[in-house]
Amino acid sequence: PVLKVALMGLGSYAARVADAMQSCKRAKITGLISGTPSKLESWSKKYAVPEANCYNYETYHQIKDNPDIDAVYVITPNALHKPHALGVAAAGKHVICEKPMSINAKDAREMVGFCEKAGVHLLIGYRMHFEGNTLKVVNMRRDGAFGEIKFFQGLSGFRIGDPNQWRLNAELAGGGAMMDIGIYSINGARYMVGEEPIWVTAQEVKTDPVKFKEGVDETITFQMGFPSGVVASCLSTYSMNYLDKFFLNGTNGYAEMQPSTGYGPIKGRTHQWPLDEPHVTHQTTQMDEMAAIILDGKKASIPVDGEEGLKDMVIIDAIYKAVKTGGKVNLV
Ligand code: NAD
Repeated sequence: PVLKVALMGLGSYAARVADAMQSCKRAKITGLISGTPSKLESWSKKYAVPEANCYNYETYHQIKDNPDIDAVYVITPNALHKPHALGVAAAGKHVICEKPMSINAKDAREMVGFCEKAGVHLLIGYRMHFEGNTLKVVNMRRDGAFGEIKFFQGLSGFRIGDPNQWRLNAELAGGGAMMDIGIYSINGARYMVGEEPIWVTAQEVKTDPVKFKEGVDETITFQMGFPSGVVASCLSTYSMNYLDKFFLNGTNGYAEMQPSTGYGPIKGRTHQWPLDEPHVTHQTTQMDEMAAIILDGKKASIPVDGEEGLKDMVIIDAIYKAVKTGGKVNLV
C-alpha cells in the first residue's frame, strides 16, 4: 500500500516536499490544504489532486470522512503546528509535522498526548534521520569506531532576508534562529553523540535589534553536557551564510560533515574514509520511510516520533532560560 498524504500550508518548503514526493514509492500526494484558493487551483492541477480533496483551514476537519487521505503533512509557520496537528489528529488522520514541532515543550507534550489518545502517529520532519552519510556516521559511532565520544561541535545558520517574513515575527515563529536552524545542531548533537544532554549553558548576541525584535534570537552560542562527560559546543544564527557544519570527536577518531544538514549532498569524512554514500533527495527518502513507519510499523534507526521532537523542545526551552538567567540549566 501507499501512504495517502495531504499537504497543509503550500509555502516554499511544501513545494520542495511535493516535488520530492514525485519520486516516492510508498507515499503519494492525495490532498491539499491552503487558505489561498489560487494555490489550491494551481497545485491541484500540478499534482493531479481532485478538487474534492482540496480544503482550506475552515473546512479541513472534513478530511475525517475522506478515505483518500491517511495523513496530513503540516508545513505551516511554527506557532501553528500545534493547533494544526491537533486538528488533524481530531479528524483521525496521522500527523507528519515540520520542525520545530511546536514553540515550547509544554505544547509539544500536549501534542504527543493528544495524538496518542487519538490513536494516530505523530512524526516530525527530521529528514536527516534518513540520510545516508548521517546514518553511516551514527552507525560507526554505535559500533565504537570513534572510541569513547568526547566532543561535538554543531554550527547552524544562514543570513535571513526579508524583515517582514513570519520567521522574524515572534508570535508566528516562537523565537528566532534557534527554533528554525539552531534546532539542527541540538538534534544533531543528540544523534551524533547518542546520549541526552543533562545541562545547557547559552549566550546571546544581538547586533541588529531592529530586524531581530524582542523574542526573536539572532545568534546564540550554547553548550550541552551529556551523562558520559561529552560536551557539545554549538552556534545558531540568522546572520552568517553557509554555516552548516558538524564535528564529532572521540578517543579513537572523528567525523566531520560540511554541509551537515543542508538539502545535500552531505559531504565530509571520518578519520578512516570520506563520507560518500549516494545522495538521494532527503524528502523523498523521508516520505517513503515515514510511509513504512505508519503502514508497516517499521522502526526508524534514529526515531522521528513526537517524543523525539519533544526532546528538542525541552532543550530549546532550557537554552532560552539559560540565555535569560546567564546560568547553567539542568535538564534532569
Ligand atoms: P513559507 O512561509 O514558505 O510557507 C508557510 C506557509 O504557511 C505559507 O504557504 C503560508 O501561506 C501558510 N500559512 C498558513 N497560515 C498562515 C498564517 N496564519 N500566517 C502565515 N502563513 C500561513 O515557510 P516554509 O519555509 O515553507 O516553512 C514552513 C515550515 O516548514 C516551518 O515550520 C519550517 O520550520 C519548516 N521547514 C522545514 C525544513 C526542513 O528542511 N525540514 C525546511 C524549510 C522549512
